[in-house]
Amino acid sequence: MKSIVASSFMLLASILMGGASGHFNLAKLAKRTPDSDSDDEGSGDEFSDVEIDSSNGYIKEVLTPGDMHATDVYLEKNKNWAAKQDIKFLAETKDGQAPNALWVSCSDSRLNPERVMNTAVGEIFVHRNVGNIIYADDDDALSWLEYGMKALTVEHVLVVGHYECGAVHAVLEEETGFDNLDRWLQQIRDVHSSNKDEFHGLDEEEQWRRLVELNALQSGQIINLSPHVQNARKQGKYVAIHVWVYDIGRGQLHELDVFDQ
Ligand SMILES: [Zn+2]
Repeated sequence: MKSIVASSFMLLASILMGGASGHFNLAKLAKRTPDSDSDDEGSGDEFSDVEIDSSNGYIKEVLTPGDMHATDVYLEKNKNWAAKQDIKFLAETKDGQAPNALWVSCSDSRLNPERVMNTAVGEIFVHRNVGNIIYADDDDALSWLEYGMKALTVEHVLVVGHYECGAVHAVLEEETGFDNLDRWLQQIRDVHSSNKDEFHGLDEEEQWRRLVELNALQSGQIINLSPHVQNARKQGKYVAIHVWVYDIGRGQLHELDVFDQ
């Protein structure tokens, strides 16, 4: 388990760092299941030029003529996607956005809000970072929240942790080997140390899952108590903070709690 966790976390880290070798091969980062040819997103021929490594599900080699770079696959996939869209609908989205919910989650490549909720473009206003951590003084997150509350006047905020989170596991390991990441993860470390009683009697896997949940709940509480949410409520608006957790192995979202006052 640990080696899998470590490798997935190193993969996450290499995404963030742009690859230690300086040559960032996106093809190696794109993962898919052996039977995903049949999912409803695929045309069936999208991956005809890609060879999958059956041992781990990663793209092994891009079988394209000449020197076509792996990233060209993504441009091709975008072309295929755009060609299938309702042009009238896309044209309407040029006029502005009116999303139904705000979403904050981890940057993990296995959790994509539009995919897992099957939403259309324009439905979800998204913020993501490593470990879905909300700091009360983080201008990045607070800008997302402020715009969501004041300009988009959204009622529902989805705070989504996920099991198998490498960022959370790094806290349990206490050694990440990184500088920026180490500082960034401090809030999860604080959540862990201030909830020691929660972990008594749990095995390693259970501790990991519980810390994922507590971290999401902490981010949800910070959003709930933020001036942007509190001010919206003072003006008579209803705002609910839904704290969810995503089960990567099952593809399912579960609700942990809702804060609406
Ligand atoms: Zn994560």
